[in-house]
Amino acid sequence: MANILLTQQCVRSCPYCFAKKHMADSEPDDILTWDNLIYIADLMEHSGEMGVSLLGGEPTLHPNFVDFVIYLLERKFHVNVFTSGIMGEKMFSEAERVLSGINPDRLSFVCNVNNPDKSPFSELENVRRFLKTFGHLTTPGFNIYKPDFNFDFIFQYINEFGMRRHIRLGLAHPIPGKHNSYVPIDKMKQMAEKLIAYLPVMERLKIKGGFDCGFPLCIFSEEQIGRLFKHNSGRLSFGCGPAIDIGPDMSVWGCFPLSNTHKKSIYEFDSMNDIRNYYRDIHHKVRIEVAGIFDACDDCIYREEQLCMGGCLAHSYNHFINEANIRFKEIYQ
Ligand code: SF4
Ligand code: SF4
Repeated sequence: MANILLTQQCVRSCPYCFAKKHMADSEPDDILTWDNLIYIADLMEHSGEMGVSLLGGEPTLHPNFVDFVIYLLERKFHVNVFTSGIMGEKMFSEAERVLSGINPDRLSFVCNVNNPDKSPFSELENVRRFLKTFGHLTTPGFNIYKPDFNFDFIFQYINEFGMRRHIRLGLAHPIPGKHNSYVPIDKMKQMAEKLIAYLPVMERLKIKGGFDCGFPLCIFSEEQIGRLFKHNSGRLSFGCGPAIDIGPDMSVWGCFPLSNTHKKSIYEFDSMNDIRNYYRDIHHKVRIEVAGIFDACDDCIYREEQLCMGGCLAHSYNHFINEANIRFKEIYQ
């Protein structure tokens, strides 16, 4: 499912944000136009892709956010919106009036929630207002950016607001050559222990957890992997994109951490498949050079069997940033 960025502005400044640099470089009035939305929808439909994610920055900052969602729904797309849940009064009223009654099979939200203990009160009030109205359409998302973390508060959100009983767990990744917070490679096993410690309570509350891209499989023991797969009914991924992001200016890139490399214009491609194949090819070439984030990735059986992709490629780029033009001459542009 491709990601369309409606705007690159945001209302928060999260330490782990891997879009931060991207957003800082964009102009405040850099928002997706109607013409560009229609072009993207045509290209996706022509490519047989009828699922779309809307994100930003914060996508609800786009003045036409609600109309865009309705337009895509009328064209029979399934729409998934990544939001902080923080909206201005006017946008919230319009979204509540128009979108809250939409069938959950057609419209869904992922609300990336931060720990309430570390969030300003006004932000929390906004998030609660959003969840009160849209909780039934919403999956909570939580981004892990340090080895020790706490998402107990999400269980309360799920029960209080009737959210989906699934937590989307994201692992923050480095932006090569830039500064954002992420779990260092040598602390990943510590992070895995913390995650596993959540399993009993999640089993008891019947809440599943799904991994976003870039989790390495071997940070878990075989026994832990068995428990994770059992808990998630076999649906667990240790993959690495490319996701395909489309910016408001119609540029495309493979995924946010690597958005500074190989940015292209959408007009250079004939289909979503062409875009995906182009970025898959780049990933593949880098993987030949550096298989994964650990030395053991080189001849790992999990990688051979495509159960794990070797962690996030951005770590490899980051590690070799000073050698990039030598090691990745053709592919790092
Ligand atoms: S390099 Fe792979 S794992 Fe890392 S963010 Fe991109 S798609 Fe995800
Ligand atoms: S491919 Fe690398 S990260 Fe994945 S399980 Fe094997 S050694 Fe670990």
